[in-house]
Formats: sequence, C-alpha cells, structure tokens
Amino acid sequence: MTRCSVDENVRPRRLSEFIGQVELRANLEVFLRAARERERAADHTLFYGNPGLGKTTLAKIIASEMGVNLVSTSGPVMERSGDLAAILTNLQAQDILFIDEIHRMPASVEEVLYPAMEDFKLDLVIGQGPGARTVKIDLEPFTLVGATTRLGLLTSPLRDRFGCIFRIDFYSPEELARIVHRASGILGMEVSDEGALAIGRRSRGTPRIANRLLRRVRDYMVVAGKDCVDQELAEMALQRLDVDPHGLDYMDRKILDVVVHQFGGGPVGVKTLAVACAEEVRTIEDIYEPYLIQCGFLQRTPRGRVATAKAYRHLKADPEPGLL
Ligand code: ATP
Repeated sequence: MTRCSVDENVRPRRLSEFIGQVELRANLEVFLRAARERERAADHTLFYGNPGLGKTTLAKIIASEMGVNLVSTSGPVMERSGDLAAILTNLQAQDILFIDEIHRMPASVEEVLYPAMEDFKLDLVIGQGPGARTVKIDLEPFTLVGATTRLGLLTSPLRDRFGCIFRIDFYSPEELARIVHRASGILGMEVSDEGALAIGRRSRGTPRIANRLLRRVRDYMVVAGKDCVDQELAEMALQRLDVDPHGLDYMDRKILDVVVHQFGGGPVGVKTLAVACAEEVRTIEDIYEPYLIQCGFLQRTPRGRVATAKAYRHLKADPEPGLL
C-alpha cells in the first residue's frame, strides 16, 4: 500500500481544483490548451512567490493537464553539471522538469540549461585542459518549470529563457476559507463557514499554513469531543497555538518587538535584526518579512527595516514622535 502525506492528499491535481490566483489560472489554461492543440511541449514556465503559495502544486497540475511525466529536483541539490545532464538525458518527449529553488543552482549547472532550454541540446565537455572537447547531444523536447521565492536572484540569461513568468500572490482570507473547506472535505471533517474564515484570516495569506492550522484545529475539535469546527472553536484553538487575529505568530511579533523596542522603530539592517531575533537572515527575508510588509506592519527602506504606526498599535507601544 502506498502512503500519501496529508499535504499530498489535499493538493489540487487539476487546474479546476486550484483556488484563487484567478488571472494566473486563466492565462495558464489558455497556454496549456494551446500547447495541447499544437501537440508540442508547453513553453518553459517560471513561478515566483513566497513559500507555500502553490508553486509545486502548479508544476504538478501542468504535468497532469498535459498528461505527461513530472521529474522534480531542486537548485541546491544539483552540485555538478553532470547531475543536471543525467536528468536531462533521461527525459521523455514533452516531460516536465520541475526545478524548485532554481535561483540556488550553481552557475556551472545553470550554463548547461541554456542550450537545453533554447535548442533542446546538451553541450558536454569531455576531458580537461587542451585535450578537452565538446560533444553535442540532442534532447527530447521538454518543459522546464522553475520555482523561486526570489525572482531578483535569477540571472537575466536564465530569466529570459522562460516563455511565461507568473507571480503568485498572497491569498485573501475568503480564498483561504475556500481552501480550508476543500481540505476539510477531503479530510472528512466538518467546518462551518465562519470557522473556515477564522482559519483563513490567520493563515498569513498562505494555503500551506491554512492546511496546517486546519489540522491543528482538528486536534482541538477531537479533544473537545465536537463534530464541527465553528468560529468559537477555531478562534480558541488558534489563540492557544499563539496565532493572533492578524495571523502573526511568535516570531512575527518578536521581529516587530525588536524593531520597536530595541531599535527605536528602526531603521535597522536585516543582518542586525536577524542576530537580535536569533533567526537566519534568509528566513526573515523569505518567510516573515514579506507578510509583515504586505500587512503594513513593516517597511523596507534603503537604510533598513522600519516599524509602522500599525505595528506600534499592534504591540500597544507608544509610537515614536511623528509616527501617528
Ligand atoms: P515551497 O516553495 O515552500 O515548496 P510551494 O509554493 O511550492 O511552496 P505548494 O507545496 O505548492 O507550495 O503548496 C503548499 C500546500 O498548499 C499544498 O499541499 C496544497 O495542498 C496547498 N495549496 C497551494 N495552493 C493551493 C490552491 N490554490 N488551492 C488549494 N490548495 C492549495
């Protein structure tokens, strides 16, 4: 018997099951239909956006809508150009090659991708020094689907070789409530509309977090002996999980607290902030900061991060003069 993680169980498999990102979905639908009608591999596609917004899900959906195989890898896993060459030469016609964290691919590996993406050719260098020679190998036409949290870290030669570039935005609380409803149906549990919205509001605009909170709230439902997650139960459980009504968790509040109380509201550089919060710079930049900025708690300025009046109100702290 094959076992499937809860995450895999609730992952949408078709475009019609994918909730939100209306414009992206409409464009993707047209471009996949056109590729199917031409009976050609779809154009190389890049998705960028915060973790947990659905990049991997969309890569899998493209493969199932096109009826082809998906081969997955990630940028940091491929250390040598041979690692990528081995994957490329094993692809079948129209297969999808999904490279997660594509911005973290070493430059030597990235160079192998250029001719592969453009002409479906592999330039292999055999030997070293003056005796080295280049061998050209034909590849099957394939579609590269890249995912990145940092579009700005992609080199322009690589970025320019993608035919389609899609940005994935944070989801609205209502869209997240629909995602919660869909997942709860698959998990066989009942959630009221208000309960789903309470979870959606606290999910930082991110489906992966909505699904995770739903599973934690389910634990509280079971222990409380209830058979439905209503608003009261959802709010009680999320409060116990230390998720506040804005969806901020302990580390979000710590970041705001450090900027406000240790650095007089900022500006403070991200490296200093990371040390003060005992967190990694990348985690702050990729996971925490985008949501705090999106919600208007933090601003990114050339001199560093600055707390907004909303952050002061949230922490119930006295604002710096001139902020309100
Ligand atoms: P990472 O970059 O961290 O791997 P990701 O952007 O690839 O994240 P996914 O793994 O695709 O994120 O999505 C996380 C989970 O959220 C999936 O298990 C999926 O069930 C759910 N999900 C994502 N987007 C949607 C959506 N639009 N509708 C329903 N569920 C979604």
